[in-house]
Amino acid sequence: MNIERELEKRSNHKCELCTSTENLEVLEVQPSKNNGLDGSLLVCSVCKEQIENPDKTDPNHWRCLNDSMWSEHSPVKVIAWRMLSRLREEGWPQDLLDMMYLEEEELEWAKATGEGAPAENQIIHRDSNGVIIEAGDNVVLIKDLPVKGSSMVAKRGTAVRRVSLDRDNAEFIEGRVDGQQIVILTKYVKKI
Ligand SMILES: [Zn+2]
Repeated sequence: MNIERELEKRSNHKCELCTSTENLEVLEVQPSKNNGLDGSLLVCSVCKEQIENPDKTDPNHWRCLNDSMWSEHSPVKVIAWRMLSRLREEGWPQDLLDMMYLEEEELEWAKATGEGAPAENQIIHRDSNGVIIEAGDNVVLIKDLPVKGSSMVAKRGTAVRRVSLDRDNAEFIEGRVDGQQIVILTKYVKKI
C-alpha cells in the first residue's frame, strides 16, 4: 500500500486538520524526520496552501485545530502546534497551545522550522528609555559620540532622521549625521 492509501485509511479520507474531504494530498512534515505514516499527514488544498504561505493564513480556518490538535499522530500534532504558534497573537490559539501536549521529541520537531519562536529571540531595537525603535523613526543623540574612523563628533542633541536598523543586532541602528552614514548604539539615543 502506498503512503497516500495508508493515510486515507488512517484519516478516513479526510483532511487530518480540518476534516474537509476535498482535494486531499499528502503533506510531508519538514524537516523530514520520520518516514511514511509517521512523517506525513493528509491535508486538503486549503490547509496546505495556508501552511505553506503565512501571508494567506486565515485565522478562522484554523479553529479546526480545536479538535485536530488532540490527534494521536505526531505529524498532525506538529503541524497543529506550528499553526497555533503562528496565530498565537489572536489569543485563542495561545489558549489551545497551553492545553496541548507534545512529547519532547515532537516539540523539538515542531520548533525546527522556527515557527512561533518566542519574542525574546526576535531582534527588537529599543532606545535608552526602552521605547521600541522602528526603521524610519527619528531619534536624538543623548551623548556626544565620536564617529569611528573620523575626527567627527556627533553632538548630543543631534537629531538623526529616518534611521535604519541592524537586523542582526538589537544594539545598533544607522543614520545620517552631517551627511555621513554612521552606526549608533541604541542606548545613546532617544526616540522623538
Ligand atoms: Zn484541511
